[in-house]
Amino acid sequence: AEKAKDDAKIEGAVQIAIGIKKEVDFAGWYTNVLIKAEMLDYYNVSGCYILRPWSYSIWEIIQDWFNEKIRAMGVQNAYFPMFVSSKVLEREKDHIEGFSPEVAWVTRAGNSDLEEPIAIRPTSETVMYPYYAKWIKSHRDLPVKLNQWNSVVRWEFKNPQPFLRTREFLWQEGHTAHLTQPEADTEVREILELYRRVYEELLAVPVIPGVKSEKEKFAGGLYTTTVEGFVSTTGRGIQGATSHCLGQNFSRPEMFNIFVEDPNDPTGQGKTYVWQNSWGLSTRVIGVMVMTHGDNQGLVLPPRVACVQVVIVPCGITAKTSDDARKAINDMCEQLADSLKKVGIKAKADLREGYTPGFKFNDWEQKGVPLRLEIGPADLAKQQTLSVRRDTGVKAPLPLADITTTVPQLLDTIQVDMFRRAKETYDSRIKEITRWEDVVSTLDDKCVVVLPWCEEESCEDDIKERSGRAAEPQDERAPSAGAKSLCIPFDQSRWTPIEPGKTKCPACGKDAKRWTMFGRSY
Ligand code: AMP
Ligand code: ZN
Repeated sequence: AEKAKDDAKIEGAVQIAIGIKKEVDFAGWYTNVLIKAEMLDYYNVSGCYILRPWSYSIWEIIQDWFNEKIRAMGVQNAYFPMFVSSKVLEREKDHIEGFSPEVAWVTRAGNSDLEEPIAIRPTSETVMYPYYAKWIKSHRDLPVKLNQWNSVVRWEFKNPQPFLRTREFLWQEGHTAHLTQPEADTEVREILELYRRVYEELLAVPVIPGVKSEKEKFAGGLYTTTVEGFVSTTGRGIQGATSHCLGQNFSRPEMFNIFVEDPNDPTGQGKTYVWQNSWGLSTRVIGVMVMTHGDNQGLVLPPRVACVQVVIVPCGITAKTSDDARKAINDMCEQLADSLKKVGIKAKADLREGYTPGFKFNDWEQKGVPLRLEIGPADLAKQQTLSVRRDTGVKAPLPLADITTTVPQLLDTIQVDMFRRAKETYDSRIKEITRWEDVVSTLDDKCVVVLPWCEEESCEDDIKERSGRAAEPQDERAPSAGAKSLCIPFDQSRWTPIEPGKTKCPACGKDAKRWTMFGRSY
């Protein structure tokens, strides 16, 4: 206990709990937050990390929420192997071209080389679709809607970043087959809406839903929809999650040959190739959440994903406090935790002996617990507790009498406020730009630009090239200096209407089609 007290004193003396300021060294701050919050640990294979319970529990909350929603859409969970033969993997040319630099191979078992190397899935289209071809015999078998929670391996050579870009990552991948394109299209958007809600409603992180440019779409797909996030400290965009319409590219006869008899063909001879979608959301979401809400005291968790929402800390106990008084305070803390748990709040009384309240405050602040309740002798006498919000630091006494209604309300308020603040920031950093001269300076101001864009691939390459050239000196972790297209937002009404034939693309001067977000990105 003496040792712990000494440690507590030392810890308490540190001004900024996290040691590195978010505004000064963002990458250093980020990893410190993750380590100190006990979310993550490093591993001795580069690009791979350990997800400790404090972060894995967030993933489980997302899983529970998402499973319920997709089950209601008729999606079933299943599991396919992680290995894929090279022959099958390489069947779809555009698809493998997109992934091949990142595919990891098993070449040996024990001492003997495998006759044919086996790939580890970078995604499971090619793993699953031979079996879709086998299982789908009739239009009555459609739609097929399977999802799996698994990990995939992409041996990326860009600098790894915990959660955001790792070589193995956890995700869900949904794979569905439909009779018609409209049905597939509808599902693509329904899933994207669930992804938006994971970010905005659970993680309190704003995103912009839209469609990817041809250049940025999923390899081998027809079109890709995305929710695009934003890391305000660096001014970079980040792809939040993607819902792809694969069209009939994978079902074609030369590919996986997934067809049914055409129910509308009177001869009964016609074939129709199925329309397919795939959609995925990864543990990247956790990293974006940490970057959005964390501060110089550490992690800040939105209440809906916090595995401890309220921590109760006994205070004001000194060497002179009688055993009875000490017990009364500790009992009060436990009773309070119990009554909050009864109304569904994840509450915890921190009754650890030998640690000062200051040490405990710091500890739970680093771990991002949304609300702290303090109880000391004076509070006990007045039958109240002092509440302290993690997000704002605002303190307010709460009477114990109606604590089971005021605390849930306060948690809701915290959730809403965190989202509102993050959204205000994101919105204020999306700049409508119509002159090329303003693009680079706006990016340098840590903003993303929205341009009335021609939607031509050569123009996109050009924008990337020209916006990367002049930029500020890049830190080595920055994956790209040039701006790429992030998405073409579905909601175009935020910006001045584009006049066909009149509004020009500021990058190339051709006719503009739609407002498109461009930015430096992760
Ligand atoms: P994709 O199959 O490429 O569309 O990826 C689906 C989603 O997984 C993307 O929208 C990203 O949010 C996420 N993702 C892609 N690559 C990684 C990675 N290396 N680490 C973590 N998440 C990733
Ligand atoms: Zn253009």
